[in-house]
Amino acid sequence: MSFTLPALPYAKDALEPHISERTLSYHYDKHHATYVNKLNALIADTEFEKQPLEDIIKTSKGAIFNNAAQVWNHTFYWNCLTGAKNQEPSAQLKQAIENKFDSIESMLAELKEKALANFGSGWTWLVVNADKTLEIINTSNASCPLTTTSTAILTIDVWEHAYYLDAQNNRAKYIDSFFTVMSWDAVSANYNKAI
Ligand code: MN
Repeated sequence: MSFTLPALPYAKDALEPHISERTLSYHYDKHHATYVNKLNALIADTEFEKQPLEDIIKTSKGAIFNNAAQVWNHTFYWNCLTGAKNQEPSAQLKQAIENKFDSIESMLAELKEKALANFGSGWTWLVVNADKTLEIINTSNASCPLTTTSTAILTIDVWEHAYYLDAQNNRAKYIDSFFTVMSWDAVSANYNKAI
């Protein structure tokens, strides 16, 4: 069995002008596709060959882990974005955010602060912990919450390849753009599944 690159949930220009078609072309067609291709080459004729992606991520190390996790992380990331306008969190998610962070605005401010502080390449996540509380965490390189007891409900890719074509070194500008096209519907659905 080999993995295939999952289809993007929207057209490549759907996030314009906030995240450009050019960025999606490189990020999806080059970076995400390369992780899929490398993973397939690495798992051929190994114990991982017939395993689901999540199982590989939970039990592998090194290059297999890195490529498997990056495949999963990117699919999750694409689903956190949308070209649809005026989305809002579900009432349940809004309440959980207000319980933990006081307001949506202060949650987004902390998300931005953590994403800016995530040194080098990595991901910034909103997760649901085992006790059902929300938390914002950073991971480095390919690492993701799948190897923890927390469940991801939102992620921001803060690798430079996610924003360099649109914002060069300005990660803050990219994060603001990300918030503009963030899918509250997807995050709300992820939250419902996690609790
Ligand atoms: Mn990426």
